[in-house]
Amino acid sequence: MAIATVNPATGETLKTFEPLDAGAIEERVSRADRAFREYRLTPFAERAALMHRAADLLEADQDAIARTMTTEMGKPLAAARAEAAKCVKAMRWYAEHAEAQLADEHPAPADVKDSGAARAFVRYRPLGTVLAVMPWNFPLWQVVRFAAPALMAGNTGLLKHASNVPQTALYIEELFRRAGFPEGAFQTLLVGSGAVAGLLRDERIVAATLTGSEPAGRSVASIAGDEIKKTVLELGGSDPYVVLPSADLDKAVRTAVTARVQNAGQSCIAAKRFIVHTDIYETFMARFVERMSALKVGDPLAEDTDIGPLSSAQGRSDLEELVDDATHRGATALCGGGRPLHLPDGWFYEPTVLTGITEEMRIHREEAFGPVATVYRVDGLDEAVELANDTSFGLSSNAWTRDSAEQERLTRDLQAGGVFFNGMTASHPGLPFGGVKRSGYGRELAGHGIREFCNATTVWFG
Ligand code: NAP
Repeated sequence: MAIATVNPATGETLKTFEPLDAGAIEERVSRADRAFREYRLTPFAERAALMHRAADLLEADQDAIARTMTTEMGKPLAAARAEAAKCVKAMRWYAEHAEAQLADEHPAPADVKDSGAARAFVRYRPLGTVLAVMPWNFPLWQVVRFAAPALMAGNTGLLKHASNVPQTALYIEELFRRAGFPEGAFQTLLVGSGAVAGLLRDERIVAATLTGSEPAGRSVASIAGDEIKKTVLELGGSDPYVVLPSADLDKAVRTAVTARVQNAGQSCIAAKRFIVHTDIYETFMARFVERMSALKVGDPLAEDTDIGPLSSAQGRSDLEELVDDATHRGATALCGGGRPLHLPDGWFYEPTVLTGITEEMRIHREEAFGPVATVYRVDGLDEAVELANDTSFGLSSNAWTRDSAEQERLTRDLQAGGVFFNGMTASHPGLPFGGVKRSGYGRELAGHGIREFCNATTVWFG
């Protein structure tokens, strides 16, 4: 894939970049390694001051970087601004909390005594240079939720960003440099995915995190596994959205629409499979389809646009194939189901609601990475849980019920890294984020995220 900015709203190539050659990659890896030796010794207060400065700079750049993101991957401008604001918040959060999260841990005195120690504790030390392979869908947020904790922990970072967001990738490197982080603490490598294997084999790179598709995750994890290097994987999702009779139906419908079409549906934690109890099915569907049909698809730079284009021609044709496969096998599109005719240029797709889904349809098993909802009707909670778990993914899940026994049952039984009740699944700096099953492993954000790339060192005194 060429490294280039191609405007998804028009299909126009705006800027292309030459990938780094072997010499330039070597220079950056060696710079990251050298930087780690000094940077790991910096006190938390110094790192926090740098992170606060980066947050302030990003806040000031909010409009400009939002425009860059919109131009590179097509999200509506308001959503891009909100993404930048969320990054500012996360950077400040880690600046404020990292020291406490990585403070020495003291085991119970009885356990210390039992080990024969006079004294023992656990210290979280940084690991070294971590490679981050990142996707384009939240091009700033995905990187910041790795970079803020990694830098606060004393690691150095190398970013291999998606090939369609090079200007955003370069901006992030520049942001940390302008904030005063030492040279080499955080660098962007403009390289294609073919360069990742070599980087993972480099002994100066000690760990990797990947957010992206299952094939990319499998490749990175297998090479890193072969090298015995730690990885965190945040992969795809096909989150269930379960609506039960006690739900606040108005709120459940409004949230269902946002949860499905945010970022033109290209979000790993978007609600994708709507599982609705038969008692409220008709009412839910009438309101859901009405709201989905009313969404405005169009120019992502226009302030009143709800849904911009998909990020690439390939992304749109993948989605088209999934929907066409379902309708050819008998699914019904209650709205949408194709390209909007009034937008012939760019990679737009209509908000779509599909019913009559059966097991042989690809969309029943695969992730729909676009504004396409599949809706299932169920007779009760058991059937809802079974259907919700009938997927290889396990990123997050969403459930609408005010019944505490049902909430307890769903918390116990939904196979996912999150269970969000009566509100939309979203990531927050202070709450761990990540999946199970083929959605990956490890956690980002909160204390869990910052400790992923630390050496939890047992210190023991006889
Ligand atoms: P993708 O193709 O896997 O790309 C993601 C990143 O991996 C890009 O930087 C890409 O580089 C690189 N890459 C691709 N193949 C690779 C390989 N074989 N080895 C090493 N690196 C490789 O993902 P996508 O399809 O663009 O993004 C959407 C996917 O990401 C969806 O499945 C979505 O659910 C998932 N996602 C998950 C989360 C989460 O937090 N769990 C968040 C967002 C997205 P190039 O661009 O150069 O190909």
